[in-house]
Amino acid sequence: MTGTLAGRVALVTGAASGIGLATARALGAMGAALALVDLDEAKTAETAARLERELGVPCRGAACDVADPEACARAHATLVDALGPVSVLVSCAGINAQQVKPLHEQPFDLFERMIAIHVHGSARMAALCIPAMRAQRFGRIVHISSILGLMALPWRAGYTTAKHALVGLTRALALENARFGITVNAVAPGYILTPVLEERIRQGILDYERYAERTPVGRWGRPEEVARVIAFLCEPASSFVTGAVWPVDGGWTMRGDPGDDLGPREERTGG
Ligand code: NAP
Repeated sequence: MTGTLAGRVALVTGAASGIGLATARALGAMGAALALVDLDEAKTAETAARLERELGVPCRGAACDVADPEACARAHATLVDALGPVSVLVSCAGINAQQVKPLHEQPFDLFERMIAIHVHGSARMAALCIPAMRAQRFGRIVHISSILGLMALPWRAGYTTAKHALVGLTRALALENARFGITVNAVAPGYILTPVLEERIRQGILDYERYAERTPVGRWGRPEEVARVIAFLCEPASSFVTGAVWPVDGGWTMRGDPGDDLGPREERTGG
């Protein structure tokens, strides 16, 4: 297999769907052997078998809840046994189906689960992979933040907190590992049409038109458009880009706009 990642192993979490699946496909097309992690065992195994047939690179799947420390360690060990040490890590496992409600009106465990999956899951996977990356003097780590890692919307405190934390994690790990041939970057996608959000549009929970209109390019993005930037960040030649957070948002974050209605203003509060 030729390609700039030939002979390397890329571990992608959340690899059975959406941005993770598009990323796995892009990294496999660059020649990487694929170590795939997702929640559901059958879906993960089926994705690995399908990508191996499609791309002709070795692919293995390991089911794991990235919020569970022992499950992460087991999945990592299984995949390294099968394919060898990891050189590229892209943590895409995540949940978008948040309750759109003020923090104080939600069960607090929803907030905790958001942090556990996005922040603990990404940090834990990085901690598992970094020692071998240091030994190889080569590593590429990409986290999936969001436009809500750069800005905030009301009623989405858990998601917004998790995605801001991923920016901090990216920068801290970028500094810690900069002298070891390891780069650590994040992408900040805008509204991307992935299966979970398509379903919410179908159910009438999300309004396609509203977010397409708010996005300067006038539509939602495709998973492949995010994967393209992730693949660029994982290239060996992208060695001088680290600690960066790349918006992939059709211009969403550059646009000044009042956005969500924060409720009636009460001048008398003086706040
Ligand atoms: P997706 O299509 O639902 O893919 C996410 C995958 O992660 C699913 O296969 C999901 O499994 C899996 N997953 C969920 N919880 C997990 C866990 N605890 N452990 C392991 N795997 C888990 O979603 P996506 O839209 O591609 O999202 C991928 C990442 O991009 C997320 O971090 C998301 O926050 C971020 N993002 C997405 C958008 C967007 O507009 N789509 C925008 C900005 C950022 P199940 O299907 O079984 O739950």
